[in-house]
Amino acid sequence: MPQAILPILTNMLVAVMFIGAFLVTAHTYPMVRRARWFALAFAFGVLDPLANLCIWLGGNVAVMQTVGFVGFLTALVTMALALSHYHRRSPMWACAAAILVGGCIWRIATIDAPRGAIWYQLSFQSWFALGSVLCAVALRRHAPPSLLNRCLVSVFIVTALHFWAKAAFAFALGTGATEEDFAGTIYAVISQASSGLLMIAAGLLVIASFLHSVVRATQTEALSDPLTGLPNRRALDRWLDVAQGDVMQHPLSVAIIDVDHFKRFNDRFGHAVGDEVLREVAACLERNRPPAGRAARLGGEEFVLLLRMDRRTASVVCENMRLAIAQLTYKDTDPITVSIGMATLEMGESTSELLRRADRALYRAKAAGRDRCAIATLEDEAASSAARPALKLVARH
Ligand code: GH3
Ligand code: MG
Ligand code: MG
Repeated sequence: MPQAILPILTNMLVAVMFIGAFLVTAHTYPMVRRARWFALAFAFGVLDPLANLCIWLGGNVAVMQTVGFVGFLTALVTMALALSHYHRRSPMWACAAAILVGGCIWRIATIDAPRGAIWYQLSFQSWFALGSVLCAVALRRHAPPSLLNRCLVSVFIVTALHFWAKAAFAFALGTGATEEDFAGTIYAVISQASSGLLMIAAGLLVIASFLHSVVRATQTEALSDPLTGLPNRRALDRWLDVAQGDVMQHPLSVAIIDVDHFKRFNDRFGHAVGDEVLREVAACLERNRPPAGRAARLGGEEFVLLLRMDRRTASVVCENMRLAIAQLTYKDTDPITVSIGMATLEMGESTSELLRRADRALYRAKAAGRDRCAIATLEDEAASSAARPALKLVARH
């Protein structure tokens, strides 16, 4: 058996396994359904080792030579299209078509050319190098500049360089007197092994990038409120933990914002309109929050503004927010108003106590007639705790 048959078979099996992995991923995670394009690229890639195998088994040389060449070039071009498509950008169709058509014409024109000539090897490998460069350019232009994508760009650049290096190796080592002798040469082993390794590197990085997208989407879903799209209570708790950690650098204030008489929107117009009102308020919070502020939905018709600022600045922000929301109306008849309770973190205070103080301030704003802001101050706190009956612990005998 010629020495390159083993790496040829291994490459075929690896490509088939990647096809399976891409199809299963696309089926399991609807958000990466575009993974099917990568399966298609690897399916074209299988044609090259398959053609080499057929030539060894006695198939028509000219046909198999063309199938292998065009198959592998189509695989690289499809990979470039898949990368753009995966990142929801319009693929570079014109460049892809030019490389593919140019490659096919070259293949037909040189089918009887001398295989050992350096110009032949250089032009043969240059089509594949161009395909790899197209993949790198598609990624650079269409994918976000993450570490994973930078690694993938590097793999495609190395792949392009390796094709040109292969031309030199082919010239130096020889590719066999005829196409049938190819599988028996040392060059064929080097060629198949190096291309196989780079194919595995690219395939693994593409799968890692799918997993990254799925994990990121799941995290975003877990931390956001489906109705308004705002971050939810879980996200707020995380922010509060982080904010408490560097409160020495940036003061921390929280405002709890509650829609006034919200129930009447549900009662008069139905739950769907109530939902619409909540979305309007959420959008208004997002539009008007300062850069040093973040908005979240606490639950029901309650929202929170987390403000990295002192009491005085935060109270101005709250008042402006109240006025902005008061501009909203439903069907030009019902103004949407909110009451706001705001508190600023004191030394040694926990974030749950901070939220409780903001909630008590909100209660005061409601009691005072709604559509207003109440700012928690230490005096208010002292007054309200004096007014509250003290709990007495009585020992049981
Ligand atoms: P107040 O001025 O005292 O805050 O009165 P309110 O009517 O706003 O407050 P209340 O707590 O009495 O009613 C809140 C209502 O919000 C009750 C609940 O049915 C409704 N609600 C909670 N979550 C949602 C939601 O996601 N969508 C809709 N449409 N309604 C919701
Ligand atoms: Mg409420
Ligand atoms: Mg309310």
